[in-house]
Amino acid sequence: MFTKEELAEFLFPEIHETLEDLEKRYPRRQLKEGAYVTRFAPSPTGFLHTGSLFTALIAYRFAKQSDGVYFFRLEDTDQKREIAGTGLDLVKQLKNFGIVSDEGYFGDHEEGNYAPYVQSKRADIYKVVIKELIKRGRAYPCFCTKEEMEEMRAKQEAKKEIPGYYGEYAKCRNLTPEQAKQYIEEGKPYVIRFRSEGNHLNHIRVHDEIRGDMDLTENDQDIVIYKSDGLPTYHFAHLVDDHFMGTNLVTRGEEWISSLAIHIELFKTMGWQAPKYAHLPVIMVTDKESGNRRKLSKRKDPEAAVSFFLEQGYPKDGVLKYLMTIANSNFEAWLLENPKSDISSFKLSFEKFSLDGALFDMPKLDNISKEVLGNMDKKTFTDQAYEWAKEYSEELTSFIERDRAHFEEIINIERDQEKPRKDYNKFSDVCDKIRFFFPDKYDALLSSPLPFNEFISHDVIKEVLQDFVASLDLEHQDETSWFESMKVLGLRHNFCDDRKVYKKDPTSYNGWYADCISIVRIALCASTQSPKMFDVLRILGKEEIQRRVEKVISLL
Ligand code: GLU
Repeated sequence: MFTKEELAEFLFPEIHETLEDLEKRYPRRQLKEGAYVTRFAPSPTGFLHTGSLFTALIAYRFAKQSDGVYFFRLEDTDQKREIAGTGLDLVKQLKNFGIVSDEGYFGDHEEGNYAPYVQSKRADIYKVVIKELIKRGRAYPCFCTKEEMEEMRAKQEAKKEIPGYYGEYAKCRNLTPEQAKQYIEEGKPYVIRFRSEGNHLNHIRVHDEIRGDMDLTENDQDIVIYKSDGLPTYHFAHLVDDHFMGTNLVTRGEEWISSLAIHIELFKTMGWQAPKYAHLPVIMVTDKESGNRRKLSKRKDPEAAVSFFLEQGYPKDGVLKYLMTIANSNFEAWLLENPKSDISSFKLSFEKFSLDGALFDMPKLDNISKEVLGNMDKKTFTDQAYEWAKEYSEELTSFIERDRAHFEEIINIERDQEKPRKDYNKFSDVCDKIRFFFPDKYDALLSSPLPFNEFISHDVIKEVLQDFVASLDLEHQDETSWFESMKVLGLRHNFCDDRKVYKKDPTSYNGWYADCISIVRIALCASTQSPKMFDVLRILGKEEIQRRVEKVISLL
């Protein structure tokens, strides 16, 4: 009689290693008590999705905060969906965000004792385990054709039965090793299925670190573990890789909860301890058309791709801090207390994880990023702005390259203080706000009419500006004395120095002194808004101020 052992040998004659050999090759890790070994395990199918950055961040933080290990595994078993080069892109983009693996796949090389970390290079490892399962009668070749599978599905639908390959529907379960061998010799294509011993009428209780105990229906599906292309399916690769790589905490999207019972049965069958699982909430958005919540979509939402935040020039730290608010409900309060701290000083916890699919909240991201940019010192700000600008903005690059010290002075206005000024949400906001500082750019702004208050006559504006330049004494003035001098200047041109008095009798004045300062601001900045005027004056310098005033007067 042709036995299961012989069938295993017949299917995989090239595989000589045993499970024991693999255990020796990949010894259990020596870890500190409580240390987590986590991984980020994307498929190389395109750009870095915002949800994936979130997943990677969580895995990374749990490993780091427990003195554990975080590694990157490339899950490229679905070779039809693979887009060449995207594995490297994913690694690079994560690195951009400071998420760098301790071991694993690095895009152009691999590092670590549990290599290979690319699934397509692990085919022989999976085969060792499959061979063993076939010997034990827990896996078998399946020759069902597409037509047969469709027929089965139609039957199940008609009878309103659970769909899938299980129980009496699992036809190839009953083939003898002899028959299987014969079919293979005849050249029939096949896959290999796991032989489940579960029953869907039973329930199993599985602990999820975030969700607590969950009652799941026991698996009874004979899932495919090995495809006709010689590679495993996700479920089987998860079992084998996370076992041999020593992952003890799997952090992955909640869409995997529906397969969890399969994974539990696979680990049980092998007699291996399953890792802890933490199924993360999916990031959602409110659909603009329907008003309903839905998953972030690659097609519809620009914010679904991490590249969107990079192109817009959101500070990376802002994006990470925003993602941390999605993760833990107490993070925001911590951030308020510790606006300048790095996220690494916050301890992520499972208890504080929000469970509902988190809504992507753009205004919140803007706000957090604004805080991050506001709290940066001028050097860091300039370094990061330059790094961004070189890729995305010629204008900003030129502003920095013309004279870095000058640029730093500009963006340092109201920065070195207890409550820094918060002007920018992202680096792409910078040019619009500081363009006027540069004489050539300022001149170009004059091609549009200046937004002077229409109730103040041009003659008054001219007089104010002339007097302003004549009396400006930047060398001897500080902010307070300059301010006082502006009040006096205002009085000379009939701008009231007291708001209340002015409000009572506005027609007797040209305005109050804030209107007078506003004339100066509009003339020098070509805008009704600017950072602190005295700092602007200092940076422009008397000569440039004079030039601007003359120019404006000539246009009035
Ligand atoms: N390759 C799987 C995915 O991209 C990984 C899931 C997991 O982390 O186990 O969804």
